[in-house]
Amino acid sequence: MKSLTEHLTFETKSRREYINITGNVENLVKKSGIKEGLCLVNAMHITASVYINDAEGGLIQDFDDFLEKLAPHEPVSAYRHNRTGEDNGDAHIKRTIMGREVVVAVTKGELDFGPWEQIYYAEFDGKRPKRVLVKIIGE
Ligand code: ZN
Repeated sequence: MKSLTEHLTFETKSRREYINITGNVENLVKKSGIKEGLCLVNAMHITASVYINDAEGGLIQDFDDFLEKLAPHEPVSAYRHNRTGEDNGDAHIKRTIMGREVVVAVTKGELDFGPWEQIYYAEFDGKRPKRVLVKIIGE
């Protein structure tokens, strides 16, 4: 069995950002040389997510509005977690709603997506370096 383990690093300019990382992951599948296998992509931080959805217009803002309705960033005093001196209580919750990781099959050397599927990195507490792990295994 072959494997490739790499990290992608992101430092977003704003607190919340949604970044399409499909091309980054496709490049790593090519680099791995694996034709048949599995590709795991996971956020290495508890205030960021990796998820799969469409790149269609408006959808990112809809996700962001939805998350802000469920777990608004402000008032920061609304979160017990922020009594520790942090201000990211909302980001922990958003991360758990949007998920930690995705697994995509690799078939004939390509990510085997359903229609319109794209891989996103979602940052909920940005402006500092954060890592995403990509691990590809197979033959
Ligand atoms: Zn925290």
